[in-house]
Amino acid sequence: MTDFIREKIAADCSDGPYGGRVQTRFPPEPNGFLHIGHAKSITLNFGIADEFDGKCVLRFDDTNPDTEDSRFVDAIREDIEWLGYDTGEPAFASDYFRQLHHWAVQLIEKGLAYVDDQDAETISKNRGGFTEPGVDSPWRDRTVEENLELFEGMKNGEFAEGSRVLRAKIDMNHENMQMRDPVMYRIRDSHHFRTGDLWKIYPTYDWAHGQSDAIEGTTHSLCTLEFDTHRPLYDWFMEQLGLGGDRPRQTEFARLNLTHTVLSKRKLLQLVEEGHVDGWDDPRMPTIRGLRRRGYPAEAIRAFAAHIGIARVNGTHEIELLESFVRTHHNTHALRRMAVLDPIEVVLTNWPDGAADTREAINNPEDESAGTRDVPFSGRLFIERDDFMVDPPKKFFRLAPGREVRLRAGYFITCDEVETGPDGEVTRLLCTYDPATAGGQAPDGRKVKATIHWVSADHAVDATVMLYDRLFADEHPGADGSDPLASLNPNSREVRTGCKLEPALADTPLGEVVQFERLGYFAHDLDRPLVFHRTVGLRDEWANIQKRQGTG
Ligand code: ATP
Ligand code: MG
Repeated sequence: MTDFIREKIAADCSDGPYGGRVQTRFPPEPNGFLHIGHAKSITLNFGIADEFDGKCVLRFDDTNPDTEDSRFVDAIREDIEWLGYDTGEPAFASDYFRQLHHWAVQLIEKGLAYVDDQDAETISKNRGGFTEPGVDSPWRDRTVEENLELFEGMKNGEFAEGSRVLRAKIDMNHENMQMRDPVMYRIRDSHHFRTGDLWKIYPTYDWAHGQSDAIEGTTHSLCTLEFDTHRPLYDWFMEQLGLGGDRPRQTEFARLNLTHTVLSKRKLLQLVEEGHVDGWDDPRMPTIRGLRRRGYPAEAIRAFAAHIGIARVNGTHEIELLESFVRTHHNTHALRRMAVLDPIEVVLTNWPDGAADTREAINNPEDESAGTRDVPFSGRLFIERDDFMVDPPKKFFRLAPGREVRLRAGYFITCDEVETGPDGEVTRLLCTYDPATAGGQAPDGRKVKATIHWVSADHAVDATVMLYDRLFADEHPGADGSDPLASLNPNSREVRTGCKLEPALADTPLGEVVQFERLGYFAHDLDRPLVFHRTVGLRDEWANIQKRQGTG
């Protein structure tokens, strides 16, 4: 696997400033849960560290005391470990607050930073625009002594929140807006989950990020494209601080976007807070926890990330592509089981009274070592309501009055009689079975056109099964500038109770994914026994998309 970032790193290894050393970092803000977009960054940063025999540091970018919390720290670590990477001892930007403060004082002493008394709104307005020069702050030319004194006062909590900031003194007419005297520190009167009430000033992203990279010895700081205009500032700070030639350098790559979902923590939080989903780990969420509960294996997420690779321009990938990696994985790994989600009762009228039988079924045709199992069989069965029609159209080959079909791993049965309820709904089918077809073939060579799945009614286990559809109906929610939540699919989840499962499914470990024959892949819930989530259907929708696009 290679891409422009790996090529650059390989070149740096042979003749770059780092003496062959490679160190990356993954820098989440602990203010929410990780989503599939973060997984792209994680597989990139941790993957590169593995490939180049280097190191990747998990660094919490905890510079915003108002929204951050240690429960997110734990959850983020857990999610990265689940994805298959060793997080080691994580680092925290807050551990560098003293060093960052020390460096800020140095910049003030060099006349490269000043305390500005303008409020946030004025500062923002006076930055100007792309065609409009910025306006110098009236406080821009304060003396070093005055700046040092005021900055000390900011640090000691002598001033109200929002009353003053520390800004870098660069150039208010710079063509790059990021260079127009960016803010380095704000006053915050909040409790920080790690440093408590020690600090009254907090560094901005731009001030904290590169310097944290430098403190840790990062060589390659990989971030998403929207930070490309921040790179000159990243470099400027390090140059002014006199950091050496082996200082970190930033490279940008495209963020991951996926159809039919949103990948912004703010929007995901809104989904949770407004109750559109059950929580951050709802199986419809694109969060790592949601995907995990849904039955997406870490291997499939990593394979997807490797497949899409790293690009220099933003784009959107089809969710069906991700699903195809999930399906491919489960096709080789998942055990086959039988489950009836919408049961209709079948009575075998010629079944010997009270006789017990088992049918031998293959656990996974893709993996011989998975062996076989005995599925209990009896004279009372459930089949899928969809697999029967009173008055079948031409292309319907499954069960119908007078017709014979095969039961998976079992006998041929023929429907002799249909019992209906007061409203004409089918309540029960009376059928006969042919004992000579026990092996799934008729000795006389007669054929049937369909094989259907079944569960013995006397042995069935009841379960709740969640069927999912897209969380957002639009392929690109909010792309036209509308509120993405306006395209939420009201039918994204269908809850089926009273589903009938073969008894082996009661022993399926929590979290495991199985194939319900003919229906799809289903994940046993992580906490609730006998609740299953449809991970993905059996049909390869990605192949269809490629055919439509003429690329398949
Ligand atoms: P959001 O916009 O959803 O809040 P964020 O970028 O602010 O995401 P962070 O916790 O700061 O969230 O992200 C940590 C790292 O993950 C950053 O380096 C960021 O570049 C990367 N990242 C976030 N979203 C994506 C994405 N969709 N694709 C690739 N990388 C991403
Ligand atoms: Mg961020």
